[in-house]
Amino acid sequence: MQQFDIIIVGAGMVGSALAHALRGKKVALVDRGAPVTARSDGSDWQTLSNRVSAVSLAHWQWLDSLLAQPIKRSPYTAMLVTDGDGCSDITLADQGNHIGALTDNWRIQYALQQALDRNSVTCFWHSELSEWQPNQITLSTGQVLHADIIVAADGANSWLRQQVGIEVKQLDYQQWAQVANLKLATNHQNKCYQTFRQTGPIAILPMYEANQASLVWSSTEPAEELDDVAFTGALNAEIASLPVRVEAVTQRQSFPLIARHAKTYAKDGVILIGDAAHNIHPLAGQGVNLGFSDVKVLAKFLNASKNLSDPIIAQRYEQARRLHNASIRHAMTAFAKGFGSNNPYLRLARNNAFRLANRFSAVLQPLINVATRHD
Ligand SMILES: Cc1cc2nc3c(=O)[nH]c(=O)nc-3n(C[C@H](O)[C@H](O)[C@H](O)COP(=O)(O)OP(=O)(O)OC[C@H]3O[C@@H](n4cnc5c(N)ncnc54)[C@H](O)[C@@H]3O)c2cc1C
Repeated sequence: MQQFDIIIVGAGMVGSALAHALRGKKVALVDRGAPVTARSDGSDWQTLSNRVSAVSLAHWQWLDSLLAQPIKRSPYTAMLVTDGDGCSDITLADQGNHIGALTDNWRIQYALQQALDRNSVTCFWHSELSEWQPNQITLSTGQVLHADIIVAADGANSWLRQQVGIEVKQLDYQQWAQVANLKLATNHQNKCYQTFRQTGPIAILPMYEANQASLVWSSTEPAEELDDVAFTGALNAEIASLPVRVEAVTQRQSFPLIARHAKTYAKDGVILIGDAAHNIHPLAGQGVNLGFSDVKVLAKFLNASKNLSDPIIAQRYEQARRLHNASIRHAMTAFAKGFGSNNPYLRLARNNAFRLANRFSAVLQPLINVATRHD
């Protein structure tokens, strides 16, 4: 049996970031997959990964402080939001300063994992969990690891969360998010574009070159059967209210959209972070941002503690994060429902709110905060 202070299960963006943020602890990082390897340099739109994330400025500053080398990113200066009937066009935070930046998910994982040696983290790759008991896990390789705290960062369907018996509140949006890379016929001008259709929101996100973008098209039915030309035509018709045009598209990938929130963030020595604790609709690009905020708070408590078995660590972490994550989840659900609705009263209320918001930007400040700031 190998003894550690902390075991982190899941080396996604969130688990890898926690491994990096811990100081002076003996840490094990376990993942069923392989370490991430470097891929395309990003200059060719067709070879970009189609999994990207919008990360807030505050989190970029934090990631930069953890890493020796900056991660390649594509800054954005504004978000243009429309509902397609011309009533609700708004521009959030367009002062020319960048408010966040997009990057491929693999770049964040790669940069964090490359630097783990410096922090003396022991990595167990290709190691699926096969058994859990308090303070101990057994891996598919037969190795047994023991620790004061086990952190579940194993994603939305967390195996560890289920073993520990933590229940989740679940909301099926009955939508699919299709992701793809786009070649634009127009310059994206470093803006994020989003249009809310009745079937779900469509986001066009600016990538590294002026004509590269990433698509997140949420819809009740994925248009998987369409060929690339037909898909491009259908997409251009749906985004007619936006000042961008799509010239070509790569292969698509679809994800069912289901929000989950764990009823508690800790039990029997296991603490949940990232998607293992909460996952939400991607319409405001918040998932990994919330996960990074979990990491910052949990790392602060763990680094400051001389006794990792003290239950106060989990209590303080849950107090600091659960309510905040729940409020963002509710805001995203309200947005998804408010925009997608046919209900004339909801649409009227929403359009009035947006008209007001254009005149008094303070009305939209909560959304701007959600989209741009994370402490
Ligand atoms: C279409 C779409 C667009 C999105 N866009 C954004 C965005 O713009 N901005 C944003 O902030 N968020 C966005 N998100 C959300 C974001 O992608 C997630 O919040 C984030 O990837 C979660 O990271 P994680 O490390 O918590 O989990 P994951 O990325 O799911 O990582 C879990 C890790 O655990 C490992 N694992 C799982 N089970 C086991 C096991 N039993 N044993 C060992 N290892 C295991 C997996 O191999 C994996 O490496 C988006 C999501 C979607 C679906």
